[in-house]
Amino acid sequence: MSEKRCFYEVLGLAKEASNDDIRKAYRRAALDSHPDRNPGNAEAERRFKEVSEAYQVLSDDDKRARYDRFGHAGIDGSGMPDFGGADIFSHFQDVFSEFFGMGGAPGGGRQKRRGPARGQDLRVQQRLTLKEAFLGVKREVSLQTPATCETCDGEGAKPGTKRKQCSVCSGSGQVSSHRGFVMFTQTCPECSGQGSVVKTPCDTCRGAGSVQKHRKVVVSFPAGIDGGQRLRVPGQGLPGSQGGPAGDLYVDVELVPDERFQREGADLLTRAKITFADAALGVQTSVALPDDTQVSVDVPPGTQPGDVLTIKGKGVPRVDGRGRGTLHIEVQVEVPTALTARARELLRQLKDELGEPVVEKAAANA
Ligand SMILES: [Zn+2]
Ligand SMILES: [Zn+2]
Repeated sequence: MSEKRCFYEVLGLAKEASNDDIRKAYRRAALDSHPDRNPGNAEAERRFKEVSEAYQVLSDDDKRARYDRFGHAGIDGSGMPDFGGADIFSHFQDVFSEFFGMGGAPGGGRQKRRGPARGQDLRVQQRLTLKEAFLGVKREVSLQTPATCETCDGEGAKPGTKRKQCSVCSGSGQVSSHRGFVMFTQTCPECSGQGSVVKTPCDTCRGAGSVQKHRKVVVSFPAGIDGGQRLRVPGQGLPGSQGGPAGDLYVDVELVPDERFQREGADLLTRAKITFADAALGVQTSVALPDDTQVSVDVPPGTQPGDVLTIKGKGVPRVDGRGRGTLHIEVQVEVPTALTARARELLRQLKDELGEPVVEKAAANA
């Protein structure tokens, strides 16, 4: 090789540079000069090769020590790989996967092999009434999704016809191209990596292998399910390809607001209306639950408007089966508006009566 520039200089580093500095400098320089970004640019290609070589030495503590002592002479002929071909990428695979985001890093052995792939997950939203959530409900959820074409069994080929070898990749499923000295390999765009293509397309799906289908899935919503929760129905997502398993169906639950109840987890708040006489005297009344069953409530004497009564175990069932939450009942006191002459008179008497602290007398009368 002709005379080489100092590796530190190549990466714009001082001799004391840390491993982290080296790595950062290399990433910056390699990204700038990468052949993918500079197609046909011979100078960029030369520079890319240069920074890659510098990085390979400086990122290796042993080689770096030798280089620091002996310069290029310490490195040459010491088992350095040949940088003439695509090999270079296999040494820097990790760095490049970060640059390019995914398995699309050129050259290395990380290509996705063709073969079974799991189907995609699906998500749908379902609105439940409080009653449905309270009791639990089974519901048919309608999905419009691609389903495996039954005519061709997902092959895309007209039954009885064969697939032919893909002419673009000659059946390998991968195509390679040279950019400068670097060889890139990617999944064949013609056959999507399958190595073969449909000769005579299926009439039903026109070769796609899948058709849009209305599908109904019965989803069981357990008693106590709440808005914002998500159910997973295994295997009801999109079908997998080439024998891979289907994805899952996720059902996001939303609750329809309810006029009668406020829900807070497993607890419920509702209201009960009683007369002001009942509020004063106490009364046994009942309130409805979301499933329309009745719960009896003891309203103690002297209950004030807005007082909240609590009954444990009468709220919403907990999804995990650990009993039910608490029912809170806010008492509303109705004040009579349409009064007869007699009622008015009695109220006046009552008012006079209540004006005096004569509890004993009232108790005696009771
Ligand atoms: Zn078909
Ligand atoms: Zn192909």
